[in-house]
Amino acid sequence: MGEFDLIARYFTRPPRPGGPTLLGVGDDCALVQPSPGHALAISSDMLVEGRHFLSTVAPDRLGHKALAVNLSDLAACGATPLAFTLALALPRADPQWLEPFSRGLLALADAHGCELIGGDTTQGPLNLCITVFGEVPLQQGRSLALLRSGARVGDDLYVSGHLGDARLALEVFRGQLSVPAAVFDAARARMETPTPRVALGQALRGVATAAADISDGLVGDLGHILRRSGVGACIEAEAALSVIAARDALDAEQALGFVLAGGDDYELVFTAPPDARAAVQAASAHSQTPVTRIGRIEADAGWRLVDAQGRALQRQDQAFDHFK
Ligand code: ADP
Ligand code: MG
Repeated sequence: MGEFDLIARYFTRPPRPGGPTLLGVGDDCALVQPSPGHALAISSDMLVEGRHFLSTVAPDRLGHKALAVNLSDLAACGATPLAFTLALALPRADPQWLEPFSRGLLALADAHGCELIGGDTTQGPLNLCITVFGEVPLQQGRSLALLRSGARVGDDLYVSGHLGDARLALEVFRGQLSVPAAVFDAARARMETPTPRVALGQALRGVATAAADISDGLVGDLGHILRRSGVGACIEAEAALSVIAARDALDAEQALGFVLAGGDDYELVFTAPPDARAAVQAASAHSQTPVTRIGRIEADAGWRLVDAQGRALQRQDQAFDHFK
């Protein structure tokens, strides 16, 4: 199978009639038409074998995850997915790998109405780079995108879904931890097939003051919001502990570490003023995505952790950094 057979067989589908894609795979460029009165939202994420995924992961799950981590960035901005490109380096053209990979990838793409419009294919060590294109409405020339810079002192601090379970699965894979099989299976599914919170992100437009998706651990990605907004945060330990699904399989210290700095969660962390609590609940219900209030925004820079009585708890958790 040659390069062009491979593209034709696994990565070429006709553009959806009435969709944003005017021209898809097969030409020198794709053509995409965003809705009138919208700005394009664009983001890229690369997945490198051994760095971002284990060589043992099933190819259909890898296809899902490669797109999910990109859709998560669109979710964080409150953007609606339109299309994506796929740049792929592969050691060999293996149908046994390509078929399930493209199936997993395109199933998630279809679920979000996000069309594969082009890419690049080359021989080399397994490496996947996706660029997603989404759109956000413009109002009087300003975008309604959720940004990292809008958090205000007094805002509530929220996270979506579950945090820390992907890290738990990684620790089990590394042989550092052992948990009951059912706990591991659920955590492994969270690690290998994360759910991008696209509907929640859109529902939070005009409600949240700031948002980011959590890829490198809660305190790392929250830290981006805090720095860009010029504020700090207080996190309540009990509330934070309630968001790890595998809470009962771990001691509190370890569970808290996984929640605060686990990584690979692909949930949203966001802020909203206290008078928007009903609107946040409505966004959660509308998007069928659980949301938990875990603290609040303060004036002092950085983040701190407190117990139920408001007493400070010492933590050293740090975000994952590829070069540290
Ligand atoms: P060019 O040489 O102009 O860069 P290519 O010959 O590499 O284009 O690719 C041919 C067509 O196939 C282009 O439309 C390109 O966007 C598309 N394409 C290449 N690789 C992929 C891929 N992995 N997934 C989807 N489309 C792809
Ligand atoms: Mg060309």
